[in-house]
Amino acid sequence: MSIDAVTAPVNRSSEGAPVDHEVVVIGAGMAGMYQIKRLMDLGVDALCLERDADLGGTWYKNRYPGARFDSESYTYGYSWDRELLEEWHWVERFSPQPETLRYLNHVADKFNLRDKIRFNCGVTAMTFDEDGPLWRLTLTDGSEMTCRFVLTALGVLSIPTYPKIEGMESFQGPAFHTFDWPAEPVELKGKRVAVIGTGATAIQAIPEIAKEAEQLVVFQRRPNWAAPLNNGLISDEEMADIRRRYDEIFAQCRRTAAGFEHDADRRGFWNVSREERMELWDRLYDGPGFGIWLQNFLEIFLDEAANAEFSEYIADRIRQRVKDPVLAEKLIPKDHGFGIQRVPLETNYFEAYNRDNVTLVDLTETPIECITPTGIRTTAGEMPFDIIVYATGFDAFTGAFDRIDITGANGQKLRDKWADGPVTYLGLLVSGFPNMIMLAGPQIAATNFPRAIEPAVDWATDLLEHTWATGHNRFDTDAAAEQAWVDDVARGYSLVLSGRAQSWITGYNSNLSGHEYGKTRYNVYQGGAPRYMAKIQSVKDEGFSGVEFAG
Ligand SMILES: Cc1cc2nc3c(=O)[nH]c(=O)nc-3n(C[C@H](O)[C@H](O)[C@H](O)COP(=O)(O)OP(=O)(O)OC[C@H]3O[C@@H](n4cnc5c(N)ncnc54)[C@H](O)[C@@H]3O)c2cc1C
Repeated sequence: MSIDAVTAPVNRSSEGAPVDHEVVVIGAGMAGMYQIKRLMDLGVDALCLERDADLGGTWYKNRYPGARFDSESYTYGYSWDRELLEEWHWVERFSPQPETLRYLNHVADKFNLRDKIRFNCGVTAMTFDEDGPLWRLTLTDGSEMTCRFVLTALGVLSIPTYPKIEGMESFQGPAFHTFDWPAEPVELKGKRVAVIGTGATAIQAIPEIAKEAEQLVVFQRRPNWAAPLNNGLISDEEMADIRRRYDEIFAQCRRTAAGFEHDADRRGFWNVSREERMELWDRLYDGPGFGIWLQNFLEIFLDEAANAEFSEYIADRIRQRVKDPVLAEKLIPKDHGFGIQRVPLETNYFEAYNRDNVTLVDLTETPIECITPTGIRTTAGEMPFDIIVYATGFDAFTGAFDRIDITGANGQKLRDKWADGPVTYLGLLVSGFPNMIMLAGPQIAATNFPRAIEPAVDWATDLLEHTWATGHNRFDTDAAAEQAWVDDVARGYSLVLSGRAQSWITGYNSNLSGHEYGKTRYNVYQGGAPRYMAKIQSVKDEGFSGVEFAG
């Protein structure tokens, strides 16, 4: 950027064909809320469009029993307002969904964010018009809106996936995805409940449903590794200490690969004795949160032999917790090691299977044949149910983009460009889709989400400011810079064991959007948050290298 551009008063709008709004932000979750706050502070004509009836995204939708953070609450909250940090008391170390939603509403009220959010307003199509230049948005009510710049804050886990089982629509009782768990209380007492799926959501929900339901049957396709959350209340004294340490806490989150306080043990797996390894694992297993995953030896992520030894340690823990040894073996994953997929954290998940009212159906032995009006039929016979819960995960990372008909310059469809997986520059821009910035989209660093969301929003805001300051109205990233980034992301997959996992990291579920099953999709940047943050900072310091400005 030239000295003149820096010192010139910035006109926070651009020249070109008239538009309804200079900036539209799509989505009012953690990312969209912070973005609209930044734009409001700058006095930009901006509007946030949200398809739901209220804000909060993930924390507005997922109301199933047991829904809560795996991130320490105080590392998850927004870091950008000192007063907010001072006044908010996180009640639990791992906040439950209702409290997090209360927090987000508090933020919205404090900063009057609702003034700039239009609810019940989904975006169904977006077309770039070179003549403006501008984006034409089609909304769920069929109306159109134009804007110069679009910032997508669509969420990476905002499109639930349902299984494809014959007869699903014939079931006569309540049946819903955990994402769509009703806001009004669901009576589970005296009910026969089926839960289909054993991913992170199911692992949170099953122990809670088991406490209430008369009978709970869990249908498992593949078991997942899981480890104790070790949640607890945060006392007034502890919260006061957290408030004193906030700068230190966020600095530590910036230093670590995954944006948490937890940092890897760098002694070297093979440099310490088996006894020392066991001592570390015993301590981490009883400690809070992702410590068991992220404070472990780095070799867990890289070295199959190290991973196998640690996986066997966790398998033994499961064997100790599940009374029936045959059942315990069914709950131990055999097709992947611990930590190769995102680790679900649990509270009494394994103990739930010791209850008389809980049964596991192993779908590798007795697959589901169909859903009937009154229950579920497997190859072993029919089981009657009052409620069916689909805990079947998400069309992760690209699902929300696929649900919008996005047409860029020269008529190219984003869906086509991403047919084999996302292709981006820094996870923020897509070549051929000018004036569009993705906040928390595919190929940003895999972290404690807000710790990547905030830098992404700040980077996007700086890019807009740079565009305005330099008198431009159009930017796009060049294809070579984009390809270099995609190559970097792909290289990361080749270095870590998780690059070969059957998980949302590799797009295992994306076939539900019509993509080819089993083909690796490079959904996240796995090179660690510090390297990612250094990269986007250097791009910015170079006046947004790899980005072409026009207009
Ligand atoms: C059950 C669960 C637990 C989680 N726990 C953690 C955790 O402990 N730690 C962590 O770091 N992350 C966690 N996550 C990830 C979580 O999604 C992020 O932390 C964070 O909430 C993402 O914020 P976001 O604003 O990017 O997306 P979201 O919260 O998903 O918000 C996206 C918004 O965009 C809206 N939207 C989408 N498409 C359109 C459209 N076409 N038109 C208009 N609006 C649209 C959606 O309605 C939604 O409101 C969890 C996710 C789930 C599902």
